[in-house]
Amino acid sequence: NRMPEAQAQQAAKAVAGAVRIGANECWTGPFPSGVAAATKLAQEGNRYEPDDEHAKLFAAVASVEGIPADRILAWPGSSDPLSRVAVAYASPTRGIVTANPTYEAIWRTGDWIGAPVRKVPLTSDYRHDVKAMLAADPNAGVYYICSPNNPTGTVTPIADIEWLANNKPKDAILVVDEAYIHWVDGPHAAKLAATRDDVMILRTFSKLFGMAGMRLGLTFASPTLMEKMIRYDGGQVTAMLPMTAVACGTASVTEAALIKQRRAEMNAAREKSVSHLKAKGIKVIPGSQANMFMIDWGKPARPMLDALLAQGVQIGRSWPIWPNVSRVSVGSMEEMEAFNAAVDKVWKA
Ligand code: PLP
Repeated sequence: NRMPEAQAQQAAKAVAGAVRIGANECWTGPFPSGVAAATKLAQEGNRYEPDDEHAKLFAAVASVEGIPADRILAWPGSSDPLSRVAVAYASPTRGIVTANPTYEAIWRTGDWIGAPVRKVPLTSDYRHDVKAMLAADPNAGVYYICSPNNPTGTVTPIADIEWLANNKPKDAILVVDEAYIHWVDGPHAAKLAATRDDVMILRTFSKLFGMAGMRLGLTFASPTLMEKMIRYDGGQVTAMLPMTAVACGTASVTEAALIKQRRAEMNAAREKSVSHLKAKGIKVIPGSQANMFMIDWGKPARPMLDALLAQGVQIGRSWPIWPNVSRVSVGSMEEMEAFNAAVDKVWKA
């Protein structure tokens, strides 16, 4: 049954003229160096690959992340490899285990292939409950950790991630989705994929790098693990991506100072709204380290979404497990000020 999801997606569709803080997009575009690189490659679009563009991307990522280049692959976003790893390693007899609430794309892939999907509530401090996740299905094919988690923005400690990697069945895959990792000023799980053959890290350029519509994502994993996800021709041509996106990504990943600056600006914009809400006595789920946060209105969230939209501010959706809670994405400082003003107009305790 795909209808509830279709309804959920509605919240992410653009409403003309509204402040768009509903879909965890970056409020600003790609870095200038990325746009320049993409423009150059658009002009050379007659060539399949003007000059080893994929290899340049893998080398740039390898140098930034400390992952061997042969353990890096690129995809049109991270949704595609997320589905593929589930198709490759889960089945009707080897299920999928995830948190709840979390990013649900893999739930739908599980439904599609008839694999049982176990959804394990987050801990009371909003981490993935890795022990309960293993207990929920000790023989799963895929365990999925999203850190920072969409929709809570909360981080699961590396020690917990390592515990699950060490205690899951040897032939199961641990997928760690780091779509929002660029907002975290701390350790990444990526290094696990540098040495282990049963862990896959997902990255995307759709978030901090501002490339959601350009479509570029990465997997870090052993070549053998990724072979099972590769396209039908063995990855010769069907694995090629638009060179504009590849070149934009290559230019962006090494922009350490701009990454830090964007992170700091968006974290400040998030805290501006979080403190505004708290000052009004509105409950915010604590601990977000990403470009989103959640508000527990203490009453159904949907009417709040509608009321804010009537004020020209489009916030995000709710998850069925928490119907009173809305996800809000972080926009620019001006957009968060508009959000704060809209809350002032509509909020009644
Ligand atoms: N993973 C997480 C946790 C996400 O929140 C998203 C998008 O919102 C994705 C993956 C997929 O995004 P994309 O396919 O644009 O990389």
